[in-house]
Amino acid sequence: RVKEKWAATRPKHPPTSLALQHFDAAYSVHLGPLWPSVRCALLSERKYGALFNNFSSDTLLEDLGAQGCRDFISNVETEVQPPEPAVGDSGYQQLSPNIRCFVFPRGDVSRFKPARPDQDGLLGYYLMDAASVLPCLALNVQAGHNVLDLCAAPGGKTLALLQTASLGFLCVNDSSVSRTSRLRKVLRSYVPKQHLTDEKIRVTTLDGTHWGEIERNVFDRVLVDVPCTTDRHSLLEDDNNIFSKSRTGERRGLPQLQLQLLLAGIEAACPGGEIVYSTCTLSPHQNASVVEQALHWARENHGIQLEVVDLRRLTHLFRNTFHFAPDLHLGEMVVPHLAANFGPIYMCKMRRLT
Ligand code: SAM
Repeated sequence: RVKEKWAATRPKHPPTSLALQHFDAAYSVHLGPLWPSVRCALLSERKYGALFNNFSSDTLLEDLGAQGCRDFISNVETEVQPPEPAVGDSGYQQLSPNIRCFVFPRGDVSRFKPARPDQDGLLGYYLMDAASVLPCLALNVQAGHNVLDLCAAPGGKTLALLQTASLGFLCVNDSSVSRTSRLRKVLRSYVPKQHLTDEKIRVTTLDGTHWGEIERNVFDRVLVDVPCTTDRHSLLEDDNNIFSKSRTGERRGLPQLQLQLLLAGIEAACPGGEIVYSTCTLSPHQNASVVEQALHWARENHGIQLEVVDLRRLTHLFRNTFHFAPDLHLGEMVVPHLAANFGPIYMCKMRRLT
C-alpha cells in the first residue's frame, strides 16, 4: 500500500472541517429546521449563472437558449400579485432591462461551457453565482447615476452594473492590489476600451473604510459587497480559507470591518442616495447585526437618518429561481437549495433621508 504523500502534512483539523463544525453549531440555531437541507446544498456542487455581456458582438442568445437555459431576469413571472408595499417601500422596484443572466432550470445541474472571445476579443458571458446579480438589481441604477462599488474585485457585480449602460460615472475600488489587477483584467476582457475612459470609470486600490473622509455625500448609489466568511468556499476549499487557524483574528474581526465599510458607504452616498449592503454568508452577525449597528451609528455619530427599503417585491419576482429565507427581520437572503443551488447571498437596501 502506498502511503499518500500529503498524510503527514495534512492538518489534523483542516479549515473546511473547522468551518463545518462552526456552521453546524451556529446555523442549526439560526436556521433551525432549514439547516440540514441548506447544509446538504452547501456541500454539493454549486450552480452558476451566465451574466450576458451586452458589449460582446457574439450571437450567443440563441446558443444559450439552445442549451436549455433562460434569462431569469426577463422571464420573471408576474401573474401572482406581489405583496403590498410596506413602510420604506416608497418606489416600485424597476428592473434594468439590460442586465441578463442565464440559468439552467430548477434541478438541472448542467454546466456552462467556458465563454469564447468574439472578433474583438471580448468574452460573451461571465460565470458567477446567479444570486450575486440580485444586489445589483436591488441597487436600481438610473440613467446618469454616479455609482460607487466599494469592494469590487474580482468584478462580477461591477460587470453587472456596467451592463445597465446608463451609469453617469462608476468608481470601482478594492483594497487588495492583486485582486484589483484581476478586476482590471476582467474589465479588459468584457468591456470595450471606449467604455473604460477616465470620464466614465475610475479604478482605485484604497482601504474603503476611509471612503467617507475622501468623498462624502457624493454618490447616488453605493454597493458595499463586503469581505465575509464566504460560507460556500470555506466548506469546500482548504486553500485561502478564513477558518484556517492562522486567520482566526481576521475572521473574528470581520463584523467590525464590515461595519466600518458600510458606514463609509453610507457617508459616501448623497442625501436621497441608496446603499446596498451584501455578503455571501448566512451569518446573522455579519448580516442583519451589521446593518442594525450601522443604522444606529450613522444616526448617533454622523447625524445621518436612513430608512430600510423593503425588497419583498424584488424577491417575489424571483421566487421561482431562488429560495429566500423566510421572515428575516432586516434584508433578504438567498439560501442554497439542492434544486436551486445558488447563494448564500444576503442583501439589505437603505436610503439616506438626510
Ligand atoms: N464585489 C465583488 C464581486 O462581485 O466580484 C466581490 C467582493 S468580495 C466579497 C470582497 C472584497 O472586499 C475582496 O475583494 C477584498 O479584497 C475587498 N476588501 C477587503 N477589505 C477591504 C477594504 N478595507 N476596503 C476595500 N475593499 C476591501
